[in-house]
Amino acid sequence: MRLPLYLPPPSRHESNQDGLLGGLLVPGFDEQSCISRYKSTSHLKKLARSPSTHLVKRLREQEALQRRCGPGTETYRRAAERLGPRGNGNGTTTDDDACKYLVLVPYRGLGNRILAMASAFLYAMLTDRVLLVHRGTSLPDLFCEPFQETSWLLPPDFPLGDLENLTGEVPESYRNLAREYGRAASVSDLPYVFVDLDHACTYHDKLFYCDDHREFLHRAPWLVMRTDGYFVPALFLNPAYQEELDKLFPRKDSVFYLLARYLFHPTNKVWGLITRFYDSYLKDSDERLGIQVRVFDGDTPFKHVLDQILACTSQEHLLPEVVAQDPGPPASTAGARSKAVLMTGLSSWYFENIRGRYWQSATAAGEVVSVHQPSHEEHQLTGEATHDMKALAEMYLLSMTDALVTSGWSTFGYVGHGLGGLTPWIMFKPENLTTPDPPCGRAASMEPCLHGPPFYDCRARRGADTGKLVPHVRHCEDMSWGLKLVHTE
Ligand code: GDP
Repeated sequence: MRLPLYLPPPSRHESNQDGLLGGLLVPGFDEQSCISRYKSTSHLKKLARSPSTHLVKRLREQEALQRRCGPGTETYRRAAERLGPRGNGNGTTTDDDACKYLVLVPYRGLGNRILAMASAFLYAMLTDRVLLVHRGTSLPDLFCEPFQETSWLLPPDFPLGDLENLTGEVPESYRNLAREYGRAASVSDLPYVFVDLDHACTYHDKLFYCDDHREFLHRAPWLVMRTDGYFVPALFLNPAYQEELDKLFPRKDSVFYLLARYLFHPTNKVWGLITRFYDSYLKDSDERLGIQVRVFDGDTPFKHVLDQILACTSQEHLLPEVVAQDPGPPASTAGARSKAVLMTGLSSWYFENIRGRYWQSATAAGEVVSVHQPSHEEHQLTGEATHDMKALAEMYLLSMTDALVTSGWSTFGYVGHGLGGLTPWIMFKPENLTTPDPPCGRAASMEPCLHGPPFYDCRARRGADTGKLVPHVRHCEDMSWGLKLVHTE
């Protein structure tokens, strides 16, 4: 067969044949050292959202910046030296070392940490900073390096110790700068600025979300940020970033999906957990449904939660009804539609109940339902490497389903649906140990929710309902004060 002289580039909406997600990823990494980087894309039937050309260009520029200024370079060594005991005690830079850094200290459960890393990466890109992530106890076991020929992990000999215990009370905090603006403190007197974005941080900490190029932070060579959440929606409220964000993300509901697909490549060990489970239990079914069960009232099983799962999946026609009177086994199940249900949770009780239901009774439509749960860890053991690896594998498996039911308020669930480009059905968080009515609702977008939003209008410089300032930042379905990005025509 004669090959055509010119092969048109694949259209972005169908492109995944190259395994590079429409330019999101670059070729040239050692494939064997991180199999998921190029192979995970083969599970995507198509990209849920495509990267804009501007995003692809800015990613390449960020990669170059990370290489030019990252750990191991002379520039990094000099910048880090200024923070140490022999440094000059202030943050003043000279022109020849104009690299600026964002050190992220992500914390809490893995879902929280993933959302924090995605948000910090976007902030680093918007402000031309090198992102360095505090590794904690398990990060290198979970993810491959996202950037070639450099590392995003903060070197262990970083001169500022005890980063995990920094609070907004330290003199270097943005909180103090914002409080004392125009008085004593000035960014150039400080070796670094600490930004506390805990979901429970203060009014002055949250003024960070309104910082713009005319204010303090661009002058600080080192920012140290501690956060546990997805603060991207707040960046969309800062007028200083509007134009750039519009170019990066013409579709506002694509931010986490694209950043997560770019940044988070499971290590070979985690990829083994994912693929062995997927190939054994999910791959061959006609349809895959994910159900993520996260209970915040304690680790013991609750009947009202089981009732909520059943009410939601029945109301939304996600699981078939079972027949009350078993008609006896069919002559053959050949040709019957099969549905694999992937359940995740710390407890196995919900899974056992639902599996038992489809074992003990036939379905009305003759559909074959199989129910699976990879692990039941019973308790949250954040930071323990094997526990975190299972958590990541399960978030990833949830992302590989066709439809997903998640638990409200859970960052674990947000990562599952965000990574998969899936708009979930969210089970509302029960109050007073009672099944909510309605039990669940369809989310407005695949984006995660920001749990600790600002309540301040940067433009008007006064308090405001930040879910009403721009059409693409709204309150979340599962948390009335939270904020999330949605697509608007
Ligand atoms: P969130 O607390 O629901 O917002 O989610 P996080 O991921 O931040 O924290 C919960 C942590 O508990 C996870 O990271 C896991 O360590 C553990 N965990 C919760 N649910 C599950 C689950 O379904 N499977 C596994 N393997 N671990 C879970």
